[in-house]
Amino acid sequence: MEMKFEARSDLKEKPQGALGFGKYYTDYMAVVDYDEDQGGFHDARIVPFGPIELNPASMVLHYAQETFEGLKAYKTKDGRILLFRPEKNAARFANSNDRLSMPKVSEEMFIGAIEELVKLEKDWIPTGEGESLYIRPYMFATEAQVGVHPAKSYKFMVICSPVGAYYPEGVAPVKIWVEDEYVRAAPGGTGFTKCGGNYAGSLKAQEKAEAHGYTQVLWLDGVNRKYVEEVGSMNVMFVIDNKIYTAPIEGTVLPGVTRDSILHILKDWGYEIHEEHLAIEDLMQAAREGRLQEAFGTGTAAVVSPVGELCYKGEKAVINNFETGPLTQKVYDTLTGIQWGDLEDKYGWTREVK
Ligand SMILES: *Cc1c(COP(=O)(O)O)cnc(C)c1O
Repeated sequence: MEMKFEARSDLKEKPQGALGFGKYYTDYMAVVDYDEDQGGFHDARIVPFGPIELNPASMVLHYAQETFEGLKAYKTKDGRILLFRPEKNAARFANSNDRLSMPKVSEEMFIGAIEELVKLEKDWIPTGEGESLYIRPYMFATEAQVGVHPAKSYKFMVICSPVGAYYPEGVAPVKIWVEDEYVRAAPGGTGFTKCGGNYAGSLKAQEKAEAHGYTQVLWLDGVNRKYVEEVGSMNVMFVIDNKIYTAPIEGTVLPGVTRDSILHILKDWGYEIHEEHLAIEDLMQAAREGRLQEAFGTGTAAVVSPVGELCYKGEKAVINNFETGPLTQKVYDTLTGIQWGDLEDKYGWTREVK
């Protein structure tokens, strides 16, 4: 894909100190327009990061035709730039777009735009402990039309943000609120897609969790509010009797790249994996009996996030004395070791940007 380039005269100062998450953005962004009556995608370009103009009738503002992805670029100790399984993000983006009746972005265009931008912004990839460049590709309907139908025009964009370790103090347990009123996804809905709408509908429960002193929500299935699904922006795994339990990918749970990678690693280590419906009552019972050994969330942002406490209908279950468990730590060390190029990539998951 040929991308035009518009240089800026005033490069930004790189941030000093703690980066946080999603606080800073780099100098440039990638933009590709799509117009049905111009034969599809056109005008691929890299331009200075900055505001964009939208018609107030743009359909994304009214009917939320919007999808996104999230992945990271890592700089190794010897200065190479690595992406982690970007083809998985490309495939998921295509599935999200299909579900929201949006045009498909090819893997070539998706990875091409990312690589072009990351190459240009390579000095923005931070190299401190746990730091990386978070990449946010996204697409939304721009057609000006206050009428409900799939839009005829879109923008596909990529922006980048240098980010720090999700938790400055390292891997630390979080408290999770099991939500038994609101639901995130239902069979036949958009639970398997990364779309903004899924998040808009989840904020109410997030606020409720925070009001009770909890960090994130554990969602139950949308039909019976009985089976555990996922946590906020992470998939979740439970270690019970030395076996691994996680919700199956059946349309209501986001198929995480981190989830898939960790299941591969755990299988390799000989763990028995149960991708099945786990009733919240059975999970709480396992905790009462001391059989729930560890629990952790998995996702690109936090990588692996230990769960230290669950609260369901007023009952609290503290997991592993609110400490990071040995398996959680080992999974974190192994996955981050591969991502930052410190461990051998025996699965062929990293892709060097040259
Ligand atoms: C992005 C996301 C995840 C994690 O997916 P990764 O590919 O591992 O980053 C999990 N759940 C939801 C709802 C998400 O949006």
